[in-house]
Amino acid sequence: MKSLAPRGFLVVRQSKGAMTSPNAQPTKRAKLTKPAKRADRFHLTTAIPYVNARPHIGHVLEWFQADVINRYQRLLGKRVMFTSGADENSLKNVQAAEKAGVPVSDWLDKYAQIFQDAYQRLGIELDEFRRGSDQTKHWPGVQQLWRATDQAGDLYKKTYTGLYCVGCECFYKPEELVDGRCPQHQESPQQVSEENYFFRLSKYQRQLRLLIETDQLKIVSEKFKKEVLSFIDQGLEDFSVSRRAGRARGVGVPVPGDDSQVMYVWFDALTIYMTALGWGYDHQRWLRFWPADVHFIGKDILRFHAVYWPAILLSAGLPLPKAISVHGFLTADGRKMSKSLGNVVDPFQLIERYGLEPVRYYLLRYIPSHGDGDFSYDSFERLYTAELANGLGNLCSRVAALCHRAGLAGGDGQAGADQLPAFSPQVAARLDELELGEALEIINQRVAAADQFLSDTAPWTKRVEAQAEVLRAAVQQIVQIATNLRPFLPQTSRAILEHFRQQRVAALAPLFPRLEQS
Ligand SMILES: [Zn+2]
Repeated sequence: MKSLAPRGFLVVRQSKGAMTSPNAQPTKRAKLTKPAKRADRFHLTTAIPYVNARPHIGHVLEWFQADVINRYQRLLGKRVMFTSGADENSLKNVQAAEKAGVPVSDWLDKYAQIFQDAYQRLGIELDEFRRGSDQTKHWPGVQQLWRATDQAGDLYKKTYTGLYCVGCECFYKPEELVDGRCPQHQESPQQVSEENYFFRLSKYQRQLRLLIETDQLKIVSEKFKKEVLSFIDQGLEDFSVSRRAGRARGVGVPVPGDDSQVMYVWFDALTIYMTALGWGYDHQRWLRFWPADVHFIGKDILRFHAVYWPAILLSAGLPLPKAISVHGFLTADGRKMSKSLGNVVDPFQLIERYGLEPVRYYLLRYIPSHGDGDFSYDSFERLYTAELANGLGNLCSRVAALCHRAGLAGGDGQAGADQLPAFSPQVAARLDELELGEALEIINQRVAAADQFLSDTAPWTKRVEAQAEVLRAAVQQIVQIATNLRPFLPQTSRAILEHFRQQRVAALAPLFPRLEQS
C-alpha cells in the first residue's frame, strides 16, 4: 500500500546543531560500506529482553539454543561473536521502577546484573552484553542508524491516533484486539494521539517478501516463514518510530535534531544487535562480524525481527541477518504458566534439583526447537531416566567397567582435542539447519546403537583378544557420541572424553545418578 504521507514532509534533515544526546557526535555521514565478512567469522544473538523481571524458563530455553550454536561454530574453528543485551529504554521499565519505589537507573542496574549473572550461572559465555541505556556504546549507533534511514528518505512526521499497549510497546489495530484487549497482555490499550516520525515500511514490502521467500533471510522453521509471508501479503503499513518525549517520560534515545521526540523502543533495542559489535563507535569491529548469522528469538517478536528490522537495515543500505531461529512458548502441565495459577517453573530451581546439563538436555531435546512445548516434572524425569541415566550414562559406565575389568587400554591416550573425530555429517547438517532437537535425536540413536552393539557382541563372553577388539570399538563409539555432544552437554562430554581417552580406562562413577522415586 501507498504511504499516506504527503511529499515534502520530510522534516528530519536538519540534524545539525540540534542534537540532544549528551554524546552527540558531529554529523559525520555514516560510512555505510558493505562489510566484507569472512566465512570463518560468525555472529549470533539472543533476543534483547526487557529487564523488568527475573529470567524465566523461556529465556533459558532460547539461551541454551543459541549457546549450542555458539559452541558448535567455535568447535568448527570459527571466530564467533555471541552477543545479547538489555532493552532498557522502555516505559514498562519506568512503570516497574516506580511501582517498586526506586530510581529507574537503580532498577535497570539491578536487573541487567541479574541477567548477566544468570548467563554466568548457566555456563553461557557472551562476548558482549549491550545495555540500551549505554550512552557511549549504544546511543551513537542508534542515532547513526536513524540518520541513515532519514538520509534514504524513509522517515516522515505525521499525526497518528492509535491503540497502544505499553506491555507490547506497539500499536494495535482494533481488529487485532480480543474483546478490546491486547491478545498478549489481556489489558485494554491506551488511546494515543500525537505527532510522530514514521518509517516507510510500505516501500520495502516487495523486496522483503523476495528476500524471505528465497531464504536470503532465512526464517526457521517453514511454519514461521509462511506466517511472515502472509503478514507481508496483507500489506505493510508505515509504522511509528518515535514517541513524544513527554509520553515516554523522557526515557529513550533522543531523535537526532528533534528533542521533542525519543525513538521507539524497538528501533533502539533492535540496534543492539549491531552496537554490541561496535556499530556507532568501533566501525572496524562491526565490519568484521556484521551481518548476524542468526538471531535467536521467540515467536511473539517474529514480526519485529522478520519485517521491521530487515526493512530498517535495507533502508540504511546495510546487509541483513542471514537467519532467524524462532522458538515457541512453554506451558507447564498443559497450562499457560502464570503466577496466579502458581505453576511458573523456575529454571534455576530446576537446575538446583537436577543439575545444569540435564535441564539443558531436556529443553533442547524434549521441547521442539521451533514450536510450542510443554514442561512437566513427569516428562522431565522420564527423559532423564531413559536417555541420560539409562542411556548415555549407563553406556559409559558399562563400557568403562568392562575395560577396567579386562585391564584394557581403552583410548589412545591422546589428550589433545585436535585428535578428536569430526562431527558426524548428519549431526552437523541438523546443526547447520538450526534443528537442534533433531541433532540430539540422531545422537540418542547412536547411544542406543552402541548399547545394542554391546549386547550383540557380548564381549564378556569372549576371550581376551576378541574382547579387546570389541571394547576398543565400543570406546570409539563413545568418543564419537561425546564429540557430537560437545555443543549440547559441554561438561558431560568433556568428562567422557577425558575418561575414555586415557591409556587405561578405569571404572566410571554414574554420570547421571538415578532419581529417587518421588
Ligand atoms: Zn500487549
